[in-house]
Amino acid sequence: MISSNIFEVKNKDGVIFLQFPAFNKTELVKHGFSTKVGGISTGIFNSMNLSYNRGDNKDNVDINFQRFCKAIGVNRESLFFSDQIHEDKIHIVKELGEEISGIDSLITDNLDVTLVTSFADCVPLFFLDPVKRVIALAHAGWRGTVKNIAGKTVEAMKREFACDEKNILAGIGPSIGACCFEVSEDVKLEVEKLFHRDIIDKIVKKNNDKYIVDLWQANKELLLRAGLLSQNIEVTDLCTMCNKDVLFSHRGTNGKRGNMVAMMALK
Ligand SMILES: [Zn+2]
Repeated sequence: MISSNIFEVKNKDGVIFLQFPAFNKTELVKHGFSTKVGGISTGIFNSMNLSYNRGDNKDNVDINFQRFCKAIGVNRESLFFSDQIHEDKIHIVKELGEEISGIDSLITDNLDVTLVTSFADCVPLFFLDPVKRVIALAHAGWRGTVKNIAGKTVEAMKREFACDEKNILAGIGPSIGACCFEVSEDVKLEVEKLFHRDIIDKIVKKNNDKYIVDLWQANKELLLRAGLLSQNIEVTDLCTMCNKDVLFSHRGTNGKRGNMVAMMALK
């Protein structure tokens, strides 16, 4: 049903989710990216919708969260949610219950906190410094990508926790791929501002009167520019739109969809 050469595809009591092998190998984190499979929601939210804000039944979403938290081994009470607005503001989570607004990237070293970010085509970025024991999750749609939320998250990990970028593992999660992410010229121009000509040719391609943008490659280039080692970056091979039977895709459903989440906690 879902097959990948990059992710470990897990099935816990019918809840199917994805993990990065390099993150598991450290044995320092509990983490996962949800799929549509294993929840109780119906209709356009079928079945593992993890959003309270899209019109789904709250009780069903509660049960979905309970199931997903159990599957990856975290407590429901430990969740700390982003407040995503396609910008580049970053919040350092010191403790649970902090009020935030307009935050697309979360960083913590607190073992009691599970970071949560939401997706349905945008690019999830996972970070782990196994030496300093610091984690981060960021939400990078094309806007977050061109604002370099990837590089800014690395900078914040260095500034706030003295992380060495050479130690940081990064994972680029399931999102809309170059196979499907067709954009108009204004988006293409924004992406082009970011990169040198020879790199742009790997990221932007012309397709009749439209353009195709590779957000996976764009974020990988930004992580390399931030000093991460190529062998420390894992890149998804799952496009949400190509796999809309098992992953929520905004474009693939004209917005009639639930949300998936990325979750990660130190252990
Ligand atoms: Zn695709």
